[in-house]
Amino acid sequence: MPSFPQDLIAGYRSFTAQRLPTEQSRFRELAERGQSPEVMVIGCCDSRVSPEVIFDAGPGELFVVRNVANLVPVYQPDSGAHGVSAALEYAVSVLRVKHIVVLGHAQCGGIRAFVDKTAPLSPGDFIGKWMAMFIKPGEQVERRDRETMEQFTVRIEKAAVFRSLENLMTFPFVRTLVEKGGLNLHGAYFGVAEGTLFVLDQASKEFRSLREQQT
Ligand SMILES: [Zn+2]
Repeated sequence: MPSFPQDLIAGYRSFTAQRLPTEQSRFRELAERGQSPEVMVIGCCDSRVSPEVIFDAGPGELFVVRNVANLVPVYQPDSGAHGVSAALEYAVSVLRVKHIVVLGHAQCGGIRAFVDKTAPLSPGDFIGKWMAMFIKPGEQVERRDRETMEQFTVRIEKAAVFRSLENLMTFPFVRTLVEKGGLNLHGAYFGVAEGTLFVLDQASKEFRSLREQQT
């Protein structure tokens, strides 16, 4: 039996010594009354972009789904098992979250695999198939003239946020609430190196740094 990772044991001890005492009552309250987060975040699996860390969120504050490249599939009520759709259904219909944030990020490995057209990593080619839903049938995603590889990758990383927001609206239970004003969809993009959060301005369709807005 392999031993449990030492770093995790040390991390848990630190949690029980420091964070748990200050948040014990919150955990008890959440256990008794259940969770009622107002925000759902759809982010990437990448270990550098934890929504709870970026938004300094405590227990019970964020309902989080993470997957490769923060993608939301289109509404597909078929016999398949759809993890993101199940979480979305629960967040909207039961928890009645007020906001859904799609959080993209810089240096996304999933996007990189997509733009590099990386060969399948296993016979299942799970990443390839997952990333393929990012493009619509017949859509071409190519590097533009005079666009560096980095610019191209950033453009596609941001396009993944746009596509996820677009796909969210294909879910009838999301669309209805958004149109009634009971649910708000947001896009954001995290610059890993600088720790800068860019928030999508829906009107201009541009990502604006929250840091610039502070100054
Ligand atoms: Zn990523």
